[in-house]
Amino acid sequence: MTQTRRRAATMFLAAVTALGLALTGAVAAAPAQAAAPVAAPLKDKTYALSSYYGPRCMPVRGSSTYHLGQDFGASSGSDVRAVADGTVSRAGTVSGFGQWVVVDHVVDGVRFSSLYAHVIDGDQRVRKGQKVRKGQHIADVGSTGTSTSPHLHLEIWRGGYPNGKAVDPLRFLKKRGIDLTQRSTRNYARTVATSCRYFTAAKVRLRSGPGTGYGVLRTLQPNVVLTAKPGDGSGEWRKVTRSGRTGWVHRDYVSPSYTSQGTRYTLTSLNMRARPNTSSPVRRTIPADTSLTMLRDVKGDWQRVRYGSTNGWVSAQYLSDTRDGARVVPKKSGNTHSWVDVKKLYLRKGPSTSTSKVMTLRRDQRVRHLGKMRNGWLEVKHGGKRGYVASRYLTSNKP
Ligand SMILES: [Zn+2]
Repeated sequence: MTQTRRRAATMFLAAVTALGLALTGAVAAAPAQAAAPVAAPLKDKTYALSSYYGPRCMPVRGSSTYHLGQDFGASSGSDVRAVADGTVSRAGTVSGFGQWVVVDHVVDGVRFSSLYAHVIDGDQRVRKGQKVRKGQHIADVGSTGTSTSPHLHLEIWRGGYPNGKAVDPLRFLKKRGIDLTQRSTRNYARTVATSCRYFTAAKVRLRSGPGTGYGVLRTLQPNVVLTAKPGDGSGEWRKVTRSGRTGWVHRDYVSPSYTSQGTRYTLTSLNMRARPNTSSPVRRTIPADTSLTMLRDVKGDWQRVRYGSTNGWVSAQYLSDTRDGARVVPKKSGNTHSWVDVKKLYLRKGPSTSTSKVMTLRRDQRVRHLGKMRNGWLEVKHGGKRGYVASRYLTSNKP
């Protein structure tokens, strides 16, 4: 071979190799991108698929009978990730869902929104108007709002939230290459009951239609058994049957469990209010771990109670059936410290998520009680800094 021919051959080989590498690279990278324009909302093998999209029996008093989303049971503080690139349209507090984040997307020409509910703090990681990337950590799994244990409630709205249509998140993501049933630790049975069994949560009127303008068929006593079909409701009203008579009851008075008319205990220090809303005057502040007498009236998440000789309303989410339900008992029974029971917890300047963050606390870190509790917020000290934390994320059991 001459010098020239050898050089030409080498160059040819180099070109073939480069082309080959380029092809291999293209072949390896392209399907992964094309197959998954979306991402899973939680890390693989960190969640269980619990409650599915579709008609269901009400899981808690006042809840929906048609599940518009998919529930993922996961530990408190787990990372919640954006399912696609998009723009945050809502972040913060909302009634029912507690804390939420909503992201608007356009993927392959399809406009949709993803909604992440019951998170610890909706505006902790993202703000309204912020652009986020697929897979970005946007919130943390919590149990805020109408929820009984830490879980992510994910909704997908085709056409966008709230004017589009809520579709099955599992199907929507599977169509785009993400099969969440293969990535979970456990999938609960996807059975839809043919009939739901409920109890009246108070003395209530059974009406001929879904509204107070309809006639009264009869008056029902507290804790009588009702039957209903999953999904049978209209807005805030539920279609129920009692002793062969079918009518309508407001969802606030329909409960899947027997409503204790006896005694319940406060989980935290709690304000008793004159009316069932946070803007009505505070009548008394009730210490944590105090027994209260349940009265018959309920309104949404509010329960009317008697404390000493005072009657008033408290938020039912801070009540427990048992005394050991109280996780944090400031001052009382000599409890002077608690431990952080979530991955991350913000110490804030004031007793609300709208106040600024002082520092980030980590799981198992110890906080000293300063003893002032307001609406589920406890004033604490850690590392020389004082502030407020949401007491539901603390435990009085030493890790
Ligand atoms: Zn849900």
